[in-house]
Amino acid sequence: MSIYESMAKSNAQLMPIFPYDEAGAMVPCGAMLYGGEDRFHGHFFHWNTVSEILVAWGSSDAMIATGSFMATQPFHGVNSFLKDEKKDGAFALVTITQRQSSEAGQREALTAKCASCKKDLIKFEYDSAPLGAPDYDATAFGDADDVFRQFSTQWGGVEFVKLRNSDEVRVCANCGHENYLFDLKPWGWDRLYNQTKISNAAYHALQTSAKEVLG
Ligand SMILES: [Zn+2]
Repeated sequence: MSIYESMAKSNAQLMPIFPYDEAGAMVPCGAMLYGGEDRFHGHFFHWNTVSEILVAWGSSDAMIATGSFMATQPFHGVNSFLKDEKKDGAFALVTITQRQSSEAGQREALTAKCASCKKDLIKFEYDSAPLGAPDYDATAFGDADDVFRQFSTQWGGVEFVKLRNSDEVRVCANCGHENYLFDLKPWGWDRLYNQTKISNAAYHALQTSAKEVLG
């Protein structure tokens, strides 16, 4: 299956394309961003202790040219990467590939800054050690008996937005500006997280049922 076919059926930005995310693995994640009258992506920052490489598999009216390739900074801004997110037909289809650490200490953070004074509203930082790393925690992002693992950034995105959109965080402590509500819809992290949870539950439901039926 190609990146184009995978992303046609994807449910979230930064969707791991393959099921391999253990220590030392290269993890290509797809993102498909597109413009439209009602599209609003907002802005946030991602910090990652492991390296990320971005490849643009096709774009139009975007900041990233088709075929371009770049290494992101450990702390980098994220938005729609479109010149005008309200424009129908603007799009960017990219992969962001990270290499999972084999050593302890893989971490990442999501940060929101005030749209008015640019001071941090919140920095949500967490351990993201992969399976096989010395500091791996099987219950950090999902359940210990998960067959299909949650991806740390998807879990982090959901937790980040919960905090980011609370009144205590959204109203800037520095300047009092009431920041916009971050819209999860174009990012879909909650969809991917919830659907992974349900896939695990469905798998276990069938296992349990099979045991009952077959004895
Ligand atoms: Zn402010």
